[in-house]
Amino acid sequence: MGTYALTGGATGIGAAIKVQLRDAGHQVIVVDLAEGDICADLSDLPGRQKAIDGIRALAPNGLDGFIPCAGLGPSVRPLSLISRVNYFAAVAVTEGVLDLLVRRKGSVVMIASNSAAMVGHDDYVTLLLDDQESAACELIEGKDAHTAYAGSKHALSCWLRRNAPDYARQGVRLNAVAPGIIDTPLSDKVLADKDLGQIMKDFGDSVPMGAIGKPEQIADVVCFILSSKASFMAGSIVFVDGGHDAMLRPDQF
Ligand code: NAD
Repeated sequence: MGTYALTGGATGIGAAIKVQLRDAGHQVIVVDLAEGDICADLSDLPGRQKAIDGIRALAPNGLDGFIPCAGLGPSVRPLSLISRVNYFAAVAVTEGVLDLLVRRKGSVVMIASNSAAMVGHDDYVTLLLDDQESAACELIEGKDAHTAYAGSKHALSCWLRRNAPDYARQGVRLNAVAPGIIDTPLSDKVLADKDLGQIMKDFGDSVPMGAIGKPEQIADVVCFILSSKASFMAGSIVFVDGGHDAMLRPDQF
């Protein structure tokens, strides 16, 4: 039996990961806003520290895996909340539990997005990667929702690629899944948004496999990457999107 920590385990993809790990007999420490072993708001520094301290208290002998899954979709306002939760919290809590992962040669699976590949490495992404939280949050308020969301996942993917070799040298495998559109409360809110709803519906209708994904289909891949079956996998970002990225960017991989 292993010990895993997960942020955003109350609903959607995180809840599906929690169920699969617990069904396999593992201990899963859940961090979420109101429903979890540790209730913390990851959008600010005290909340991130509460999450780190709480995980450390519940997993004193180390972690076999960590999944920073908490995230906000492009319908959320202010846009800076997306930067704070999707990028800064994911990175901060991962770094805050790294020594626990080193102790058990654990594995990190981040939740990126296939939208990360739809934006470039702009000034917003640079500020995120430079750990300039105030400046990034100020800049994004003048931009659009797609840039805020996809940029946060682009930066997270770059952070992963930059850090995966060092983590691997410490015995920790750092990987990500990049889901396409998945049926969760997050995508429901985007579909209900007056500006983003139709774009999201058209996006969902164009998935080559003919349907949007289910949270369990992402959890299946996350649990595989966490397991010893993926023991040589490090620095990978796996698209789990029904063929959408291949359709949109056939010659880039
Ligand atoms: P969801 O809304 O069902 O789950 C998000 C979870 O994060 C919730 O449990 C929520 O309470 C938690 N959370 C949000 N803000 C928080 C905060 N400030 N502090 C602590 N917890 C907080 O959505 P989901 O679709 O399951 O999203 C999970 C991850 O998957 C996110 O990182 C999201 O960006 C990513 N993702 C989702 C889709 C999709 O189409 N649903 C696609 C690509 C990537």
